[in-house]
Amino acid sequence: LDVIGAVEPRVADAIRQEVADQREMLKLIASENYASPATLLAMGNWFSDKYAEGTVGRRFYAGCRNVDTVEALAAEHARELFGARHAYVQPHSGIDANLVAFWAVLADRVEAPFLEKTGVRQINDLSEADWAELRQAFGNQRMLGMSLDAGGHLTHGFRPNISGKMFDQRSYGTDPATGLVDYDALRAQARAFKPLIIVAGYSAYPRLINFRIMREIADEVGATLMVDMAHFAGLVAGKVLTGDFDPVPHAQIVTTTTHKSLRGPRGGMVLCDDSLRDQVDRGCPMVLGGPLPHVMAAKAVALAEARQPSFQDYARRIVDNSRALAEGLMRRGATLVTGGTDNHLNLIDVATSYGLTGRQAEQALLDSGIVTNRNAIPADPNGAWYTSGIRVGTPALTTRGLGTSEMDEIAALIDRVLTAAEPGTTSKGTPSKAQHVLDAKVAEEVSQRAHDL
Ligand code: PLP
Repeated sequence: LDVIGAVEPRVADAIRQEVADQREMLKLIASENYASPATLLAMGNWFSDKYAEGTVGRRFYAGCRNVDTVEALAAEHARELFGARHAYVQPHSGIDANLVAFWAVLADRVEAPFLEKTGVRQINDLSEADWAELRQAFGNQRMLGMSLDAGGHLTHGFRPNISGKMFDQRSYGTDPATGLVDYDALRAQARAFKPLIIVAGYSAYPRLINFRIMREIADEVGATLMVDMAHFAGLVAGKVLTGDFDPVPHAQIVTTTTHKSLRGPRGGMVLCDDSLRDQVDRGCPMVLGGPLPHVMAAKAVALAEARQPSFQDYARRIVDNSRALAEGLMRRGATLVTGGTDNHLNLIDVATSYGLTGRQAEQALLDSGIVTNRNAIPADPNGAWYTSGIRVGTPALTTRGLGTSEMDEIAALIDRVLTAAEPGTTSKGTPSKAQHVLDAKVAEEVSQRAHDL
């Protein structure tokens, strides 16, 4: 920090403050974690200066032997850890990994057959008329993904994201009575819609998904099954999610982030079967900028850590903690979407439980040293900005060694804050979905306890 501070002291100060915040507050954001010092150090070094477009042993730049070493290692650890045929470790983020996957499927299922039909080997050799037809064909493809308010992700075909502009998308929701994915309804929807891609995976669904059934449905309608396991990759790596709940043996293509429950550096990754390997490897420069060798080095370190037996224990404790948090919250009267959890996250319906919007609850908790994020719940009356939910996840606090008894205490702290918080008003005195009022003494006492924990 002294070296950084000598150049731009405000950056050094911001880093110091960030470390303090991450130590003093309770980090319950379901997508965050604490990467190990080894992972962080592997990321902050001279690899950052190297260009390495291409793949291992086949680069568009000279001098890539050390990048080859770390990229090959990261891919090997990923293949071994997840039992995947192929791993592509270049994506810079989860969104980038999803884009690689979409274009790999489009290349495999739309472009390749079109080239074959026209008898042309290279896309550059297509006539202008054929090229126009192929571009239209790209734009006519369909995707079926989980709806946002059921826990899906923007990149699964929603309009504000490029995926929604690329694909004609329909989404499947959850059963209003149970909050669970209804596979029969999904099957009927897939039969009627006939998508090219079915996307499974979520950011805010507190239960498991049966990928065997998802693959059956995909096969029945001729779709490719893509699973975005960004949130639960750590639970797959840690062998908590096995059999029907492990996406890797079932999906043709699996994407993930590396920084959430997997506890690696910020980044993304694609796993796939042999049929998509070549197309996936074209991710850069198809949709990705040049690889980040320093991040690939950190991915190799983090994936090596995840192959240690202790990671399986970590993954089990994430879910134990999540269940303990759910029980602690429900015992104190909170309503949870689906009535509990099977994974690393819980979704608290704060509108029903405490008469707050998600935004008010998020701020009241932040005032009290508890960092969460607001999140829409199914059929959310407050929409995607204010929301009626708070998402809480346990990967980060589990990394810090907190266990089930601390989770019960944290449930009590959350309940205390949300019970004390009240909806506030705008500057004109009208009801506000953003403002909240919280007794300073409650905020102070809970912050102190959060700090001690
Ligand atoms: N996919 C899912 C399911 C996610 O929850 C997220 C992040 O929240 C992403 C993709 C995007 O990841 P990134 O922020 O690394 O692009």
